[in-house]
Amino acid sequence: MPQYLRFIPLGGLGDIGRNMALFEYGHNILIVDAGVMFPENDMLGIDLVIPNFEYLRDKKDWVRGIVISHGHEDHTGALPFLLQEIEAPIYSTRLVNALIDHKLKEKLGRRHKVALHDVTPGEDFRLGPFHIHTVPLTHSIPDSMALAIDTPVGRVIHSGDFKIDYTPPGGGGPNLSRLAALAAEGVLALFADSTGAERTGFTPSEKTLEPAFDQIMRAAPGRVIIASFASQLYRLQLIIDIAHRYGRKVAIAGRSMEQNFETARRLGYLHVPKGAYVRLPTALKMPPEQVTLLITGSQGQPEAALARMAANRHREIALSPQDTVIISASPIPGNEEVVGRMINQLVDRGVEVIYPPIAHVHVSGHASQEEMKLLLSLVHPRFFVPVHGEPRHLHLHARLAESMGIPRERIIRLRDGDVLELGPERAAVVEHVPGDYVFVDGSGVGDVGPQVLRERDVLARDGFVAAIIPLRKDTRELASAPQVITRGVIYKDQSDATLTEAEAVLLDAVQRSKKNRNALKSAAIDALSRYFYKNTRRNPLIEPVIVEIDTSGQ
Ligand SMILES: [Zn+2]
Ligand SMILES: [Zn+2]
Repeated sequence: MPQYLRFIPLGGLGDIGRNMALFEYGHNILIVDAGVMFPENDMLGIDLVIPNFEYLRDKKDWVRGIVISHGHEDHTGALPFLLQEIEAPIYSTRLVNALIDHKLKEKLGRRHKVALHDVTPGEDFRLGPFHIHTVPLTHSIPDSMALAIDTPVGRVIHSGDFKIDYTPPGGGGPNLSRLAALAAEGVLALFADSTGAERTGFTPSEKTLEPAFDQIMRAAPGRVIIASFASQLYRLQLIIDIAHRYGRKVAIAGRSMEQNFETARRLGYLHVPKGAYVRLPTALKMPPEQVTLLITGSQGQPEAALARMAANRHREIALSPQDTVIISASPIPGNEEVVGRMINQLVDRGVEVIYPPIAHVHVSGHASQEEMKLLLSLVHPRFFVPVHGEPRHLHLHARLAESMGIPRERIIRLRDGDVLELGPERAAVVEHVPGDYVFVDGSGVGDVGPQVLRERDVLARDGFVAAIIPLRKDTRELASAPQVITRGVIYKDQSDATLTEAEAVLLDAVQRSKKNRNALKSAAIDALSRYFYKNTRRNPLIEPVIVEIDTSGQ
């Protein structure tokens, strides 16, 4: 019998997103979550980033099941890609399974064969040598769970994404007594959400948003248009309730939000009073003061509803100065600039824009420091591993644990791909497996590497130069003068003079160079990079094209 449990994070330790962890005992693997990360600004043309599944490829029949902690994309979005490679049953709540089923039908076809097992939060089940207890915790979406996993070497607890919200809209709340009871029997290791580690104090309840929304909906002279995440089901519930209070009908613009809304309503996770909801075309014909619109695009995503409305290129909705726009979200780090620009556009259109911190219209779904301490002191683990965060979040969470008296040698900082061996007395990183990004670009998975991204980056910033070198096949001499073509490098009114000069530089370089292909190419690249840098301060992507001309027949 193996003495150790292996914990392998394949994503989520170093970035927010792409969360996926493996628990391995002997030839048994339990997967917790399989999420996506949305690309950063410098990942041009990339649609999604998913974890690297390389480690699992020769262990497909070790996988006993996939447990999903809650219904957010950064925990579920990579499932369609993972399930093309391995076959395994999914265990999650009814709501999460319904959201996943949509996704699988879209990507794998309506008749996909993936087994989705519904679990009620609080229920236990067994997968191979793992006995899993689910514990209801709170987050920004209903049915978020922590997992207590019993293994042959001891019990470990994974927090999932959490905050401690005693009054989530729609009722319920964290089951702290169950967590405490499970913890009292001894916990070998705790893996806990670090996202909010920079915030002191407690994260306020979702309920605390009510006064601000109430006041805005009561006083707004026209439509109230609210941008939020499609997956913030608690927020949607709050908005529906308050809109109903003031006789406003709620309508939804945006397919992802409409789909989540319909699914949650059908399963009873959203309570929509009779007549409180109308379709968008109906809402657009109603008196504006009777309408609330829910839309996507709180992060300034250029193709989402809000950015299109701000730029006046939304097909159905045109903004009017009577409208009040609420951005019910904080910009995710990296998006601040885009969101700021969008707010400026909205202000220029004359609409009233309300966003944090000018009004209390958003709270985080993640624990702040005092809630993290609460979890640590309830669970009292032997080893502590901060997860779900950028390096600074993981670092601060580790510090916090240390400040509570957990000895430094029992706090373990991991990176994606680290293999942590856990035994009753020992925790050590023993090897490293691939934990890097896999890019999804259009329909291709993994065929775009860092080299392609670097080229796209250069193209976008500095443009493109083609150097065409016509060479006689027989004599290896120039058949005619070389030509330079540029895109995105020089302004049109300077272009004639610059191009003539560049072509002269190229001609000179080619004449001095040896006449084999490699020598010609590097001579052209050297000369033109130097020329364009000197004259435009840019480093365009330079592509020499040697055209061999067969003159023997002439
Ligand atoms: Zn989440
Ligand atoms: Zn998350």
